[in-house]
Amino acid sequence: MKNTGKRVDLIANRKPQSQKVLHKLREKLKKQHFIINDTNPDIVISIGGDGMLLSAFHKYENQLDKVRFVGVHTGHLGFYTDYRDFELDQLVANLQLDSGAKVSYPVLNVKVTLENGDVKTFRALNEASIRRSDRTMVADIIINHVPFERFRGDGVTVSTPTGSTAYNKSLGGAVLHPTIEALQLTEIASLNNRVYRTLGSSIIVPKKDKIELLPTRNDYHTLSVDNSTYSFRNIERIDYQIDHHKIHFLATPSHTSFWNRVKDAFIGEVDE
Ligand code: NAD
Repeated sequence: MKNTGKRVDLIANRKPQSQKVLHKLREKLKKQHFIINDTNPDIVISIGGDGMLLSAFHKYENQLDKVRFVGVHTGHLGFYTDYRDFELDQLVANLQLDSGAKVSYPVLNVKVTLENGDVKTFRALNEASIRRSDRTMVADIIINHVPFERFRGDGVTVSTPTGSTAYNKSLGGAVLHPTIEALQLTEIASLNNRVYRTLGSSIIVPKKDKIELLPTRNDYHTLSVDNSTYSFRNIERIDYQIDHHKIHFLATPSHTSFWNRVKDAFIGEVDE
């Protein structure tokens, strides 16, 4: 029988339950004549939790315009996962009916310029966090060309709307609906006293505004981008902005509303 023409990659974590789902789903897709392809897919299915979807995003971060993602959760419902592991038949049926519908969310672009002129760029789906490795980080923060503040403390994070419910939230940042095209700058343990002053609250910056960070002390800093961490010596500046490319998710009938996910993850049932 003719194949569907749709190329699908499946990415799973090592947990036995995820591996079981991987094999089951791969067989179901093959039976329905999908093409399994791990280099140039149209659809990427992550199996595991939100962390696995982050890994899938980074595998295909240079092909974002060509790929749509869908997440299968092997535990409770996640923020990036639409299907539970007992809903594989429903997922396959939706993929058969799929006509290319998608929902798209902003991605963060981070450009690190070193004093020797080297430039490294990263894409983040959740956030990028910068810290000085072993002492107080001191950095000037510039927002939309306005020299805003001299930050002293552990570090700062810049998060996407979908990342606002991750590390950003633990730091006291606001939860943003993922369709709002903005970045959120949140402090990590800032020093605030009679001598040192920062705004203290999170700042939500619109798409057109850039955030710049210039460390004043040159030694080692660590930059965490989603689930990866890098160490840099002598950073001259970091530029943050919303990336030109968005992440596209398969729009599925079972797409759970964002506020239901937030309630489910952080509040649970409300007593009447
Ligand atoms: P992990 O295994 O340490 O898991 C962190 C938790 O964050 C998991 O429960 C995961 O489901 C959840 N998570 C991930 N993205 C989320 C999102 N967008 N909204 C709500 N929850 C989300 O690490 P991982 O699974 O590889 O995920 C990496 C992410 O962990 C980072 O991007 C960062 O946001 C988050 N993190 C959070 C803290 C914290 O809250 N104190 C500390 C470090 C990292």
